[in-house]
Amino acid sequence: MTEPPRQTPVFRFAPSPNGRLHLGHALSALLNAKMAAETGGRLLLRIEDIDLTRCNLELEQAVLADLDWLGVDYERPVRRQSEHFSLYRTALDQLTSRGLVYPSFLTRGEVKARVTAFEESGGRWPRDPDGAPLYPTEERDLSLEDRAQKLATTERHALRLDMEKALSAVGHPLSFQETGDGERGEISADPARWGDVVLWRSDTPASYHLAVTVDDAEQGVSHVVRGLDLFHATSVHRLLQALLGLPQPAYHHHRLISGPDGRKLSKSAGDTALAALRNQGRTPSDIRALVGI
Ligand code: GLU
Repeated sequence: MTEPPRQTPVFRFAPSPNGRLHLGHALSALLNAKMAAETGGRLLLRIEDIDLTRCNLELEQAVLADLDWLGVDYERPVRRQSEHFSLYRTALDQLTSRGLVYPSFLTRGEVKARVTAFEESGGRWPRDPDGAPLYPTEERDLSLEDRAQKLATTERHALRLDMEKALSAVGHPLSFQETGDGERGEISADPARWGDVVLWRSDTPASYHLAVTVDDAEQGVSHVVRGLDLFHATSVHRLLQALLGLPQPAYHHHRLISGPDGRKLSKSAGDTALAALRNQGRTPSDIRALVGI
């Protein structure tokens, strides 16, 4: 009997150029490169720059320079998400035509005020896995006239997934395969914990969840290797894959590297930025040792 042809594994490192890369990114990039090398796979680089107010070309150049210095090699051309807004829009339109998307108008401040008032009167407003309050759901049921009127008179709006309708459109439980540093095996996806997630905003014509899901499929990514901070977001990605009929990659969420104060690293964490470490005389092999790869 002949063996079925083995698919070449495809990995990707997907930084957002809204700050300098730090040690956490180094771990992600090096682990992707290592897993690709060990499996005879390909490594792609995707620049996640849909947030046009925070990302810029200078920071993108800095990301490329840091990767180059680290010795992480990836295939060209590099994909830049800001060049593919029309693709995300097509995916969004598919969901809209099935009645799964609605426009939402409350500002962050309005949601916050509502949550505070509710909690001050003794209630407990539901939170998502990152601790943010879930978006109120009443705009799911606005009449067509009210919607049109608000669209005409409100400066900004977002388009959100109606989680309840989306779950019933899929109609069966979802799961994903996980091999990372937290829970492993077949993990039950629980997208409802995120409420009505944003898919598009007036000022960012896409969302992280939508762009990452569409691009992983578009680029044929078979293995998503990223930090454990995105473990729960995978539930939303599985839901979007199911709704859009996209293949499901395998997932590996790796441990996070914390800063000297024990907190998660942020892009503003100056002293763990790779550029700062390089200026202090650290070498790429020091960085590998620091992140344990
Ligand atoms: N762009 C995201 C970040 O820099 C990572 C997205 C992903 O790997 O799915 O945090």
